[in-house]
Amino acid sequence: MIDVEQLRKEFPILSTEVNGHPLTYFDNGATNQKPKVVIDALEEYYKGYNSNVHRGAHTLADKATGAFEETRTLLQKFINAAKSEEIIFTSGTTEGINLVAQTYGKTNLSKGDEILVSTMEHHSNIVPWQLIAAEKGATVRPIPISDKGEIIFEEFEKMLSDKVKIVSVVHASNALGTVNPVEKIIERAHAFGAKVLIDGAQSAAHLPIDVQELDCDFFVSSAHKMFGPTGMGFLYGKEAILNDMPPYMGGGEMIKEVSFDGTSFNTLPYKFEAGTPNIADTIAFGKAIEFINKWGKEEMAAHEAAILKYATEKLKKEVPTAKIIGEAENKVCVLSFIIENIHNYDVGMMLDARGIAVRTGHHCTQPLMARYGLEGTIRASFSAYNTFEEVDRFIEGLVRIVKMFG
Ligand code: PLP
Repeated sequence: MIDVEQLRKEFPILSTEVNGHPLTYFDNGATNQKPKVVIDALEEYYKGYNSNVHRGAHTLADKATGAFEETRTLLQKFINAAKSEEIIFTSGTTEGINLVAQTYGKTNLSKGDEILVSTMEHHSNIVPWQLIAAEKGATVRPIPISDKGEIIFEEFEKMLSDKVKIVSVVHASNALGTVNPVEKIIERAHAFGAKVLIDGAQSAAHLPIDVQELDCDFFVSSAHKMFGPTGMGFLYGKEAILNDMPPYMGGGEMIKEVSFDGTSFNTLPYKFEAGTPNIADTIAFGKAIEFINKWGKEEMAAHEAAILKYATEKLKKEVPTAKIIGEAENKVCVLSFIIENIHNYDVGMMLDARGIAVRTGHHCTQPLMARYGLEGTIRASFSAYNTFEEVDRFIEGLVRIVKMFG
């Protein structure tokens, strides 16, 4: 088990107060907090070796390029990609999915084709597919889920056919916490010749990821959900598929040669990285990966699971008017619920007054909310730096809120 008190010391924000109370940060699903090593890396870059990458023949440019490319190698190992060229830097999960939709989708979808997503997808794994589907005359079909918040596998299997070209599913749901059986999904989809994209926004920092073992075609995630900076993320794609895809954006860096008679494109990964990249945040993302490696993903996840279990049991016992939404067998550290006769927004506001940060609303999953006939939920999403005392404070806050409304 990790030493949570030691871990907390790495995060400057965790010793601050909000509204006169110690910060209790339970909004890690939206973005988690940043350790000092990540914050320092940004300052060190701008103060010590700010320079563009890949182009300058000078010391600072070399240093910046080295640090920038180091993150690619760290990510390659982190998800066990076969080659570092298969890691494309993006601005986040959203951009990764749009990139695949607008390149792979554009060249491989035709009229009548189908794209399968699950009912629990984040909007960023629905809308990019709807946009390309509208352009190509394809259809986006939702895989149904059960009341517990799990994909109904038999229904998914029934939906598979040779019309299905892409299956794009979330590894772990941001709104329910459900961990989907992506290995089985990938295997079944491949049997029908479909390519599979895994949205790893909520899984990369919490679950073991081995893209070769998974055999997914694409995997996307965001740095800011992995203790790294915002506006940064990555796309993994199998080399042969990426090589066959047309470029996403045009500009500097993604070209081999430009002429008015025709332009040729750079090799992987640069073919998909047009323009000056987000250098500082890429370097800092590398520090976040090292941070996870240092503390141990498994060790952190074990603590998160204990916190989730404790919070779930305590909520059921002490707030009987609460109803948990999403009770899958296999979950990451997300506790989503509603409270009878109290609007989720009011709960969020009143918790905030006590320094407790949760998210309320539809969590960018409106079709999922519609599935449950809800406008939104209250979501507490935990990280390895959260404590049992914080959970006590949270439940105590909820008990008070229920009393006030009662
Ligand atoms: N997918 C899931 C499951 C998410 O939780 C999120 C963000 O909350 C996203 C996609 C989008 O991530 P980003 O906004 O970092 O691109």
